[in-house]
Amino acid sequence: MYDYVVVGAGVVGMATAYHLKRLLPRLRVLVVDQHPGVGMGDTAKSAAAFRTIFTSWINRVLAKTSVDFYREVQRGGVDLGMRFVGYLFLVPEENADLMRNAAQELRAMGVSVDAYERLEMPIKLRVSDDEEAREMGLSDVAFGLLVRDAGIMDPEKLVKYYYEVYTREGGEVLFGTKVESVVFSPKKPLGIPGEPFPWQDVKVVGIETSAGVVEAKNIIFATGAWTERLMDALGFGLPLKPRKRQVFVVRATGELEALLRSGLADREYSPMIILPRGVYLRPEPGEGTYWIGVSDRRPFRLEEPPEPEEALWRFGIYPVLTKYVPAFEGRMPQNAWAGHYDENVVDYQPVVDRLVEGLYVAAGTSGSGIMKADAIGRVAAYLALGREKAELYGGVVVDSNVLRHNRCFEEERLVI
Ligand SMILES: Cc1cc2nc3c(=O)[nH]c(=O)nc-3n(C[C@H](O)[C@H](O)[C@H](O)COP(=O)(O)OP(=O)(O)OC[C@H]3O[C@@H](n4cnc5c(N)ncnc54)[C@H](O)[C@@H]3O)c2cc1C
Repeated sequence: MYDYVVVGAGVVGMATAYHLKRLLPRLRVLVVDQHPGVGMGDTAKSAAAFRTIFTSWINRVLAKTSVDFYREVQRGGVDLGMRFVGYLFLVPEENADLMRNAAQELRAMGVSVDAYERLEMPIKLRVSDDEEAREMGLSDVAFGLLVRDAGIMDPEKLVKYYYEVYTREGGEVLFGTKVESVVFSPKKPLGIPGEPFPWQDVKVVGIETSAGVVEAKNIIFATGAWTERLMDALGFGLPLKPRKRQVFVVRATGELEALLRSGLADREYSPMIILPRGVYLRPEPGEGTYWIGVSDRRPFRLEEPPEPEEALWRFGIYPVLTKYVPAFEGRMPQNAWAGHYDENVVDYQPVVDRLVEGLYVAAGTSGSGIMKADAIGRVAAYLALGREKAELYGGVVVDSNVLRHNRCFEEERLVI
């Protein structure tokens, strides 16, 4: 009988499991995943860029405390692949006011943001002199907004870090095992066949897996893009939906190498660059490449396994990319992969909630789960331990039900 079973060995599940053990080392905790190891779901597919700039306070708190924690771990000698290259938002004319206001709010909070009217980089800010760009409806860039407290990291190193500290605390894992369902039992069993009946109060007593039943007092589903399907099957409606996301890798040679090496604010390498129309360029200095993606609207669907689509590169990304960064002309990806965002379609914030006694969910990371995983894991651990308050890294205290699914949050406007 485990005290807690965490389903999902992605970054959210591993952070949750670690914080449970950290808070109460005597607990018996088991992490179960269908894959043969940690972080092999969307954590491994991530572009793993991080920032602390968001328009909603809860996202700022989740990201800031997590990024501060990762920085401290890395300072302590564990390489998480963190590089503070910054985020450069190339702000199109139509979003200039929104971003100016966001920049002012951030400055008031002490966050360092710089506006650039010009850039010493091979990037075109003015595209309206190009007929094709005009036909495509592409806007000129009003200014570049650099967020310094932002960058890139290695998601596999992060999830491995949580795995190591968790197992060092005595945490157990069961890989290659698929969770099929949850076993409920009446709180007051009457010994009648067919229990639990609809009129009985129930509690969780375990999970059914491909390897048999595992008994547990509490189950936490940290199942990312699979959560909607699993919760639907149990009859719990959550506003979570999987949306396919793809990454295309282009070698940074020639003028692109110059771009990769054109760091801003004394940084050695290019920032993560967000172009208008949701196209982003994520530098990977270690391999001398750019990882390129786009936040396109597409049907919500879980594809297994998700495959990258050449047409998205050719028609969805390349035309926009080459207008703002002509150095990409004639370039083709040397590698590509696909995964899913696990989107909260109501407000783009994560969900950490108790559904019935002993059954919890920690999901809905909406494309920014790496940068918030530590805080989400802490909130999930405190909530599942029955504590009213959750202490995030740096002593920030929030209600542990702050991320419940039927809350009322302001919608996040800075979604990439
Ligand atoms: C292309 C792409 C780019 C991204 N870029 C960024 C970025 O720049 N910055 C950022 O912060 N975030 C980014 N993200 C989002 C980030 O990767 C996710 O938010 C994060 O990895 C979610 O972690 P998770 O633990 O919730 O999910 P996952 O890592 O997917 O873990 C869920 C686990 O649950 C397991 N599981 C599911 N169902 C079952 C079952 N029935 N039985 C057993 N195991 C099960 C899966 O095998 C999986 O290992 C990106 C995502 C993608 C796809």
